Amino acid sequence: MLNNWLSLLLAVFLLLGAPGGRGAGPGSGEWSVPPSTGVIEPAAELPPLGALPPRDLSVLAGRIIAVDPGHGGANPGAHGPSGTAEADNTLAIARYLQAELEKAGAHVVMTRTGWQAPGIGELDQLKARVWLANRSRADVFVSIHNDSNPDRTKTGPTTYYYGLGNSRRLARDVQAELVQSLGAVDNGTVRRSFYVLRHTRMPAVLVEAGFITTPADDARLRDPVYQRRIALGIARGLARYFGG
Ligand SMILES: [Zn+2]
Repeated sequence: MLNNWLSLLLAVFLLLGAPGGRGAGPGSGEWSVPPSTGVIEPAAELPPLGALPPRDLSVLAGRIIAVDPGHGGANPGAHGPSGTAEADNTLAIARYLQAELEKAGAHVVMTRTGWQAPGIGELDQLKARVWLANRSRADVFVSIHNDSNPDRTKTGPTTYYYGLGNSRRLARDVQAELVQSLGAVDNGTVRRSFYVLRHTRMPAVLVEAGFITTPADDARLRDPVYQRRIALGIARGLARYFGG
């Protein structure tokens, strides 16, 4: 009997929705998602979409784009002061990026689509990410991460590259559009020998979207509105690279 009452209560709860809960999911309009219940309201800080210079995303149509959500499985990456794991943020951002790119007609190859990382073990999972990108003959490779630093005032994105030709140009385009789309501090582009940048055979960048170890960035990075804006910034950067 008690079980029946609990089931009924649960059904009513599900039908009506949680009071004060986030009514909107990832599929809804960007501005209809309420800001997270933190001290700051990241959405309010974002530059209005109309203020961004026009960028033709249709140049992405037909491109093969490898999107690599950093970490996953036994390797959650860094943690924010809120307890959020980097691996969860990177997957959420990557899914928004996938949607943005597919909307523009691109073919997206995701190196992971769920909690689990590809491959087994730290090196194997990096090898698996590279193998997936190389095997799919992707035009470009974008790895998504959250930065960490003992200095908790650090904020904003940084884009890493290794190859000096098109990878460097891709990094500059992605970084410029990210900074503009987020209204964030510009940490510039940095050349670094990350495994996934060294072994992928196409122009490749690794985006550190912000500092998860900084409380304000931690709140932004786990906010779906901000995650979606990161995805938009990366998509605009890719379009800029392809001449859009
Ligand atoms: Zn990482």
